[in-house]
Amino acid sequence: MNIHEYQAKALLAQYGVAVPRGKVAYTAEEAGQVAKDLGGKVWVVKAQIHAGGRGKGGGVTVVKSVADAVQAAKRMIGMTLVTHQTGPGGRLVRRVLVEEGCDIARELYLGALVDRVTSRVTIMASTEGGMDIEEVAAKHPEKIMREAIDPAVGMQAFQARKIAFGLGLKGKQVSAAVNLILGLYKAYVATDASLFEINPLVVTGDGAVMALDAKINFDDNALFRHDDIVALRDEDEEDPTELEASRHSLSYIKLDGNIGCMVNGAGLAMATMDIIKLYGGLPANFLDVGGSATRERVTTAFKLILSDPNVEGILVNIFGGIMRCDTIADGVVAAAREVSLTVPLVVRLAGTNVELGKKILSESGLPIIAADDLADGARKIVAAVKGSA
Ligand code: GDP
Ligand code: MN
Repeated sequence: MNIHEYQAKALLAQYGVAVPRGKVAYTAEEAGQVAKDLGGKVWVVKAQIHAGGRGKGGGVTVVKSVADAVQAAKRMIGMTLVTHQTGPGGRLVRRVLVEEGCDIARELYLGALVDRVTSRVTIMASTEGGMDIEEVAAKHPEKIMREAIDPAVGMQAFQARKIAFGLGLKGKQVSAAVNLILGLYKAYVATDASLFEINPLVVTGDGAVMALDAKINFDDNALFRHDDIVALRDEDEEDPTELEASRHSLSYIKLDGNIGCMVNGAGLAMATMDIIKLYGGLPANFLDVGGSATRERVTTAFKLILSDPNVEGILVNIFGGIMRCDTIADGVVAAAREVSLTVPLVVRLAGTNVELGKKILSESGLPIIAADDLADGARKIVAAVKGSA
């Protein structure tokens, strides 16, 4: 789960991470009021969407009067902001963050993630802040520092100092950065985050160090123990189909192809997608209906797949272990009838009650194409979709 920049900054501030003063606004008038309340001579109005690249896309504006803050907010709220991270469709801006302006001397990069190789929370830092870190990683990998944290003892002050010196910080900037980095680590662990990105981390003209941007990603599997974080969820920012899926405990990720997949188990789902590609097709989605899916859930899964206008055929690939094949067959038949299926449907079942499942499918009178194994199923759906195109 993602949250907005202003929410991320408020959360990080609770752990001692320095951030500029600011407040969210939902209307241009509110934005003006926030600027007035903050005082000062320079403000920054920032579009709040769950995507980066706002600076280049016109979603970050520095203003020098309250009237200009109102104008900037008026322009942003209601606009569709397109950045390299939103895709061509862009995102509708519904809120802006108004912050006190800051005199930037240097832009650095600071991040935290779980490194899969070392299985440790790792702090990443670079002097090349403010730009695409992916580009830095590709062109100048030597400019990214990594510090792995031992989970038994947590982050040590010397590790934070090492990063601060590596970033070329001097004098009182070092202790400011050390506090910030230690706070960041504490926040990361306490919130079960999966990714923190502070890009840029800035050094101001008078030597303060603070987080000027903040992107946070949480581990969905730990959200059950963070009601306060779940409350920050902005459903407007989520794909409506993926949202509907999560309400039914289905793991669904929309993709760009035309073959809908309904599979049980994440590993089998990935293998199914691979084999579709192997036979020249493109999956329209990843969908794991889980091990204990009911007939209702299978029906919902079917409707989700079909709500994607790109879907020209469906491959159901189920291994009946905990979930029995006849339950799946019931669900498939019920769903196909309910949505009056118009695209080819290939079903491959294996496992518990497979004979009963196949019987339900063949007696349904529906034009279901039966497959013997995974390769056969993939071949048949790819052929069926090509035939209909
Ligand atoms: P992103 O493009 O979505 O990652 O948005 P950021 O929050 O990182 O802002 C993009 C850029 O806008 C930053 O790298 C800064 O150069 C600039 N910016 C953001 N806030 C301020 C500010 O308070 N003052 C000034 N002068 N520039 C800012
Ligand atoms: Mn940024």
